[in-house]
Formats: sequence, C-alpha cells, structure tokens
Amino acid sequence: MQGYRAFGVSEEALRLADQLEMDLQKRFKEIERVRDHCQLKVLKAFQNQRVSETDFGISRGYGYDDAGRDKLERVYAEVFGTESALVRISLLSGTMAISTVLFGLLRPGDELLAVSGKPYDTLDAVIGLGERKDEGSLRSFGVTYREVALLEDGRPDLLGIRAAISERTKVVHIQRSRGYAMRRALSIQEIQDICETVHELRKDLIVFVDNCYGEFVEEKEPGEVGADIIAGSLIKNPGGGLAPSGGYICGRQDLVHQCACRYSAPGLGAEVGASLGYNRLLYQGLYLAPHVVAESLRGAVFASAYLQHLGYQSDPGPWDHRSDIVQLCEFKEPKSMCAFIEAIQAAAPVDSFVRPTPAPMPGYEDPVIMAAGAFVQGASIELSADGPLRPPYTVFMQGGLVYANIKLAVLMADQRIRAEQNEALT
Ligand SMILES: *Cc1c(COP(=O)(O)O)cnc(C)c1O
Repeated sequence: MQGYRAFGVSEEALRLADQLEMDLQKRFKEIERVRDHCQLKVLKAFQNQRVSETDFGISRGYGYDDAGRDKLERVYAEVFGTESALVRISLLSGTMAISTVLFGLLRPGDELLAVSGKPYDTLDAVIGLGERKDEGSLRSFGVTYREVALLEDGRPDLLGIRAAISERTKVVHIQRSRGYAMRRALSIQEIQDICETVHELRKDLIVFVDNCYGEFVEEKEPGEVGADIIAGSLIKNPGGGLAPSGGYICGRQDLVHQCACRYSAPGLGAEVGASLGYNRLLYQGLYLAPHVVAESLRGAVFASAYLQHLGYQSDPGPWDHRSDIVQLCEFKEPKSMCAFIEAIQAAAPVDSFVRPTPAPMPGYEDPVIMAAGAFVQGASIELSADGPLRPPYTVFMQGGLVYANIKLAVLMADQRIRAEQNEALT
C-alpha cells in the first residue's frame, strides 16, 4: 500500500477528503492569492536590498559591521512596511521580543493600554498581573496597566478605547492573533481602525501590535496600516520553519532604536550582536515563509471542514476570514480529544513514535495534552496541537510546514476517533 493508505487511512476517509478538497477549491485559491502577493513582496525586498551570497557569512564576538545581519533587518523593514527593524537570533522568543518593546518604550509613570482584551498569558509576568512573585515587571517600575475588552462579537471597542485613553497612556497594545484565548483574530482592517482611532485622538500615542501567528496571513501587515511598532517570533510564521530561534521588532526608526538599546545596552543598540552564522537560515526562512504559512492555512481550513463534517465544532469555520494560523476544535469529550492529539503526534516527521499523555502544566488547573513532532523545539509554525483536559475539550491546532502532512494527521485522527468509539461500543 502506498500514499495515505500506507498510514492506515481508509478508502472512505480518502473519498471524503477528495470531496471536501473539491468543495474548498475557491477557499484554497484565495489563500494562494494572498500567498503569491506576500511571496512577491518578500522577493521584491530581497532584490531591492541586493541580498547577496556574501550576506550569509559568519560574525562572532561583538558582531560589529555584520553587513548580512544589517541587510536582513532592512529586508524585514521593507517587508513589514516600517522604517526600521531589529531581527536577532538572540531575541529568544516572542515573549522576549514583546517584553523588549514594552520595556524599551515605557517609563515610570507611563500607562500601557491593552485594547484587544487580556494579552497572551506569558505577558502576565511582564506586565505584573496576577498573584505570582514579581520578578521585575513593568508594574514594579511604576508603569501602570489598563485594558479594554473586545466587544461581544469580537470586534474592537473603538468607543471604549477612545474613552480609556488618558494623559498617562503611552503605548496601546493590540494582539492580532487569538493566541490561546476564546476570541477571534483581529483582521488587518480592524487593526487599521484602531490605529486611526488612537492617532486621531493623540498623534504621539504608540500603537504596538503583537503580530505573533499573523504574518503573511493577509496581504498587508500592521505596519502598513498605521501601527508604530510590531513584534513577533521567528519560530512562528516569519521563520518559515528554518529559523532555529529568534524574534523581530519592526517599526518607526526612533522606537526601534529605543528597543535596541533595551535589547543590548544604552549606547550599543543594534550595532552589537554576532549572528554566529545563522543569517542564511533567517533569510531563507523569510523567503519561504509566505509559502509555509499558506500550507498551514490550507491545512487548517481542511481540518476545519473535515472536523465539521464529522460533527465537531471548529473555529474559524472553513470559509471564515482568517488573520492568524490558529485553528480550534471542540471535541466535547476527552477520548476523542486525546485520540486527535495522539494522531497529530503519530503523523509527525519527528518523534512520531511518542504517545502524548495529559500532564499537569504550570499555570493550568487541568492537565494539558499536547502533540509536537517538530524539528525545532516549540516551533509552532510546525504542526502542533494542544489543549487543557476540561469541557468542552477544545484543541488548539496550528502550523504545519507541508499540507499533505496536515491532511494525513487529520485523516489519521478520524481513524483513531472511530476506533476509539467502536471500542466503547463493544
Ligand atoms: C506565541 C505567542 C506569544 C509568545 O511567543 P513565545 O515565542 O511563545 O514566547 C505572544 N503572543 C502571541 C499572540 C503568541 O501567539
């Protein structure tokens, strides 16, 4: 047996997949149109900045005069529609990139205003929310925090935002992706509306977008529609699956410089930071990113349609507008949820032989089950899925470098869930 059949996928499941793919052709075409637009934007930036083989050299020590690193930052700035960029392997994660922006821009007495509801969980400790021990949060430096929730239907509350801005407000925080929250991603149009509302009120307010999971999902990026500064992780979308680590900050020149001074040290800024030979992977990853993001989006749309067909609730639905790569599915009971996660793991290129089991996780009240068979630890542009074991048994699935592999994972999940249910019957 060959192809999907070699993985135990039934003829029946394959026929259903074929049918769904036919039905989804227009949706896939839309994704491909955005992909091509983004791909050509990236290619143009490579050519405009005259990317050359000599840019893939190695720098060590202080990393002064690393022309390849500096040029990569100009490529990022062009792609994300900003004046300047800081792109470093040593920005260790999305959280560090975001934290660098916040500490870089905010001073004692300033206020941070989050306008897409509560930010991503790892930012609690950065802002100083919750009960945990303060390890040098913004709060401990005298930076205050307020937030405006999204409206019931998930749209930004423009009136609420206007009302919440005070004398002390300095940075307005927007999270584009849903992350792991029960909200939807904000579209580029909605981000533009927020930027216009904020800047109409006060030109000097800094709009900062956490762009994690959002890159290349739409034609435009937040920096092209009025955001002053954005940040993200290189082991998500813009690393294209090749970046082994890193983060980026793109924005207005003066703001990026302030962040660079926080990242290294005042007086050093972006001038230091050896790239240690990783430039090529960051360039090539960015070059591949629009393609990889489109693969993961097609996979998410297929999963959404397939799981809906099986009777589960998936969000976003296959035809819904998307602005991030995250896919949710409600399994309603623990056995199907675990079977789905096990199948994601079993379909992976790495660690396919490992069986995920629910385990306690710091910060969660219920045990969490997760699947990740990735080349780069924690890289969620590679196919991964997880969720806390509690009603309604929701799985967050994201990424996937290759469409056929995501499709296989979904078909194997169907197989496993059916086997699980048959077992329960007998
Ligand atoms: C992943 C993510 C982060 C944090 O990035 P890490 O690399 O996990 O530290 C922040 N915000 C959003 C929306 C994310 O998806």
